[in-house]
Amino acid sequence: MGLRICASCKHENACKNHFCTQCGARLSGGEDCPSKLLVLEGEPKGAIFLIGTGSNTIGRESSNSIVLSDEQVSAKHAAITLKEDGFWIEDLESKNGVFVNGQRISKRKRLYDGSLIKLGSSILSVEINGNGLNSHKKSQKRI
Ligand SMILES: [Zn+2]
Repeated sequence: MGLRICASCKHENACKNHFCTQCGARLSGGEDCPSKLLVLEGEPKGAIFLIGTGSNTIGRESSNSIVLSDEQVSAKHAAITLKEDGFWIEDLESKNGVFVNGQRISKRKRLYDGSLIKLGSSILSVEINGNGLNSHKKSQKRI
């Protein structure tokens, strides 16, 4: 798991920090910091799912990357995809819809750090680390 090293004071900060806890400088990088979903309500409550490149599907079927045991969740309910500008969630024509921050989405919606996703009676919170863009394939080449 990665740390975010402060460019100003070299203090090692945890991935979740966006500002240095020692000097307050804004932290960049975080390439090693995975973005994740935390299950706040529903089954498995308290579980943490890492979301990365490719398609992260959410649903009741075991073939999904994120499986929720919720009768109101469709077999294939939603997908979270990393695009060039960040993470987006898409409603896969689920029966009960996808809600982000209390609003039902029509087709897809951009996710931000702290966004709350509601599927059926399950609630997931989004934690996006780094800049949410794993477009660091480029920067990894530089390193
Ligand atoms: Zn610092």
